[in-house]
Amino acid sequence: MRKKVIAGNWKMNKVLADAESFVEATKNNVPSADKVESVVCAPFPYLHALVKKTAGTDLAVAAQNMHYEESGAFTGEVSPVMLKDLGVSYVVLGHSERREYFAETDETVNQKAHAAFNHGITPIVCVGETLEQRESNQTMDLIADQVKKALTGLSEDQVKQTIIAYEPIWAIGTGKTATSEQANEVCTHIRKVVAEAVSSDAAEAVRIQYGGSVKPANVDELLAQSDIDGALVGGASLEADSFLKLVEAGT
Ligand code: PGA
Repeated sequence: MRKKVIAGNWKMNKVLADAESFVEATKNNVPSADKVESVVCAPFPYLHALVKKTAGTDLAVAAQNMHYEESGAFTGEVSPVMLKDLGVSYVVLGHSERREYFAETDETVNQKAHAAFNHGITPIVCVGETLEQRESNQTMDLIADQVKKALTGLSEDQVKQTIIAYEPIWAIGTGKTATSEQANEVCTHIRKVVAEAVSSDAAEAVRIQYGGSVKPANVDELLAQSDIDGALVGGASLEADSFLKLVEAGT
C-alpha cells in the first residue's frame, strides 16, 4: 500500500503573515503522517519561519524549486544545502510554470533530482503535456520521455522514494480537471515506464500524484483511482479549510 501524499503548491502567493496564519490553522489539524503526508510548498522567504513553526507536527514544508549546485556564483538562486540546512524536506522540480517561464529542462530537472537526493530532500518531479500535445496524441510518448529523463542515473532506491506529479498543463489553474479516468490512464502509463526503465519494485513503490484543478469536490474520485497516490494542488490549497479537506481525503 502506497501512502498518499497531498501537497499544496502556493506558487507566488501570500505574504508572511498569511503564510504563518495558514500554518497555525493547519499544523495540528492535519492527519497523522503515518496515514497521509501533508505538505505545503511555500515561497523561499517563508521557509525558515514555516519549518520552525511546524517542527514536531505532521505538516511538512517544501520548496517550489532549487538550484542543483551546492553553492557558488549563481545570483538569485537557492541551493539544496540551504534548503537542507533549514529543514525543508521536499522540493518541487520541473513544474510546468518553471519549464515554460524559466527555461527549466528535463536535463536540469534530472540534475536537481540528483542534488535533492544527495542532500536528503525528497523531489516531487512534475511532468505533463500541453493541450496541443494531447490533441495530437503525443501525451504518452512525451510523458514517458519526461519521466525517463528526470530519473536518469538515480538508484532504484532513490526512484522508489521519488514523487512524480502528473500535471496536464491544460488542467492547471483552468478549472478543467482531467477526468479521473484520463488522469489514471497517464499515471498507469508512468508506472509502466518506471517498471521498464528501472524495475517493477520501483514502479510499485514510486508515488504518482495528479495535479490540475484538484479541489475538495473532485479529490475523492481522483484519489480512488488505482495509480493515483496523491495530489499536487495550487488554487485550492491556499485556504486552510480547503487544504484540510484535501489532506483528509488522502487518509
Ligand atoms: P491548480 O494548480 O490546482 O491551481 O490547477 C496545480 C499546480 O500547478 O500544481
